[in-house]
Amino acid sequence: MRPYRIAIAGFQHETNTFAPGSAGVEEFRMADSWPGLLVGDAVVSETHGMNLPVAGAVSAAQECGRVELVPILWCAAEPSGRVTDEAFEWIAGMILDGVRAAGPLDAVYLDLHGAMVTDSYDDGEGELLRRMRDAVGPALPIGVSLDLHANVTPAMIQMASLMTIYRTYPHLDMADTGARCLNELLRNLDGTPHKAAFRQAPFLVPLNAQSTDLEPCRTLYGQLDSLPMASGQYVELAMGFTAADIHDCGPSVVAYAETEDDAAALADAMLGQLCEQEGVFDTNLMDAHDAVRIAMQNPAGAPPVVIADVQDNPGAGGTSDTTGLLQALIDLGAQDALLGVMHDPQLAQKAHEAGVGSIFDDTIGGKSGLAAQSPVTGRIQVLALSDGVIAYTGEMYGGGTASIGPSCLVALRENGSEIRIVVSSVRTQCLDRALFAHFGADPSSARIVCVKSTAHFRADFEPISSAILNVAVPGAFPCQLHLLAFRQLREHVRLGPCGPEMRSPN
Ligand SMILES: [Zn+2]
Repeated sequence: MRPYRIAIAGFQHETNTFAPGSAGVEEFRMADSWPGLLVGDAVVSETHGMNLPVAGAVSAAQECGRVELVPILWCAAEPSGRVTDEAFEWIAGMILDGVRAAGPLDAVYLDLHGAMVTDSYDDGEGELLRRMRDAVGPALPIGVSLDLHANVTPAMIQMASLMTIYRTYPHLDMADTGARCLNELLRNLDGTPHKAAFRQAPFLVPLNAQSTDLEPCRTLYGQLDSLPMASGQYVELAMGFTAADIHDCGPSVVAYAETEDDAAALADAMLGQLCEQEGVFDTNLMDAHDAVRIAMQNPAGAPPVVIADVQDNPGAGGTSDTTGLLQALIDLGAQDALLGVMHDPQLAQKAHEAGVGSIFDDTIGGKSGLAAQSPVTGRIQVLALSDGVIAYTGEMYGGGTASIGPSCLVALRENGSEIRIVVSSVRTQCLDRALFAHFGADPSSARIVCVKSTAHFRADFEPISSAILNVAVPGAFPCQLHLLAFRQLREHVRLGPCGPEMRSPN
C-alpha cells in the first residue's frame, strides 16, 4: 500500500485585541521563544525534539511508517495586538500555494493556535481554514491541533475535519496534541468518519483560573484521557483566550463520534460538567502590597514566595514592562527579591555600553506607552550581561532556545530595597528558571521571585516555591474580565465565572 501523503504547516498567533502593537511580517520571521519562520524541510529539521505540535505530528507520522510528509511552512509570533493584513495574506498565501503545488495529497495537518485576530478577520483561523477548504475540496481531511486557549468558532469546526486541543496549562503536551491529531487523521483516512458537535460555555474564565494544576481544570482535563469512549469517539475542551473582543471568545467543547447524535451527547455531557464547576474557579487576585508584605515574612533559607504579575504576561500580549509590582517592592523596602523579565531595550543597551560592575542612576520599565504606566527611577548596578541566547531547561520549553536579545541582570537599589531584575530586548514570558540562572541568579535561593507570567511559570517555579500569589496590578492582559470593554462578544455571556452578563453598549 502506498503511504498517505500529508501536507503539514503551522501558523500560530494568540491575539490580544486590548493590547498595543501588532504582529507583522517581521514578528513572524524572527525567532523568540520558538524558531523563526521555517520553510520546506526546515519545518521538520528545525523543530525536531521540541515540545511543539508540529514536532509531535512529525514524530507520529515517522513512527507509523506509512506517511509521506510534505512540509510547507511553520511560523509563530509572540502574542500581541492584531496580526496585520500584510502578514496574514503573505503567510496564508505561502501555505495555500504550497498545498496547491504539493501534487496529490491524502490529508492536510495544520498546527494553529486558534485565537488569531487580524486587521480584517476576527476569526483568523476560520478564514485560513475556509481558504484551505476551497483549495483542497470538500472531501480531503484537514486535521488541526489547537492551543488550550483557542477561541474555537463554528467556521473552524465546519471547515476542519477534526481537531485536537492541548490538555495541560502550563502546556506540557503540545507535541502530544500534534501527535494525537496526526493519529486521528490516519484513523479518518483508514475509514473511521468523524462527525463533530460543538458547544460554547455561557461564561468566560480568566487565564489565572484556567491552570490544570488547579481545580476545576485539573479534574475536567484529567477526565478527557480517562473517559470510557466507544471506538472513534473523543472530546476536546478549550478554555479560550479572554483578551479577545470577538463574537466567539470563551470556553468551548468539541466532540467527535461516528454519528452526529453520539457526538452531540458527548459534547453535551462535557459542557454539563464544565458548567457544574462554574463556582469552583478561583479568580481572586491579591493587592500587590499585601502580597509583598506576605512574601517579606518568608523566613531566610525557606523556598521563595513566587509572586505572579498575571496581567503583564507577554505570552498573552502584555508589554512585560509595567512597574506596579516593582513599585510595591520598593515601597516596602523588599530585600533579596528577583524579578523577570522586564522588557527595556533602552536600559539593556545602556548596561552593555557601561559594562559589568558599573553603577548609574536611571529609569527601568514603563516605556512602552501603556496608559498610566511610567518608569521607575533608582540606582542601578549592572551585575551580568548576555547576548540573550538562552537554553531553556524547564519541562515546557526544554530542548528549545530563548532569543531575548541583548540583555542583563541589574540590581535596583531604592528606598532601602534591593531587587535584582532580568532586563531583555525582546518581550519574553518568565516561565523557565533558566531566564534567571543564565545570569547567575538562582531563583531557588531568593526570598521573593516575581514573574511576569499568568500560569505557564507554574511548571518550573512551583517545585521550588513555598507559595504562589497572583496579584492585580495594571497591565495589557486584564484578568478581571468585568472591567474589560467588550463590544463584539455575544450577548449574555458571563464575564467571568458567576460574573455579570455581557450587554452590548447600544
Ligand atoms: Zn496557551
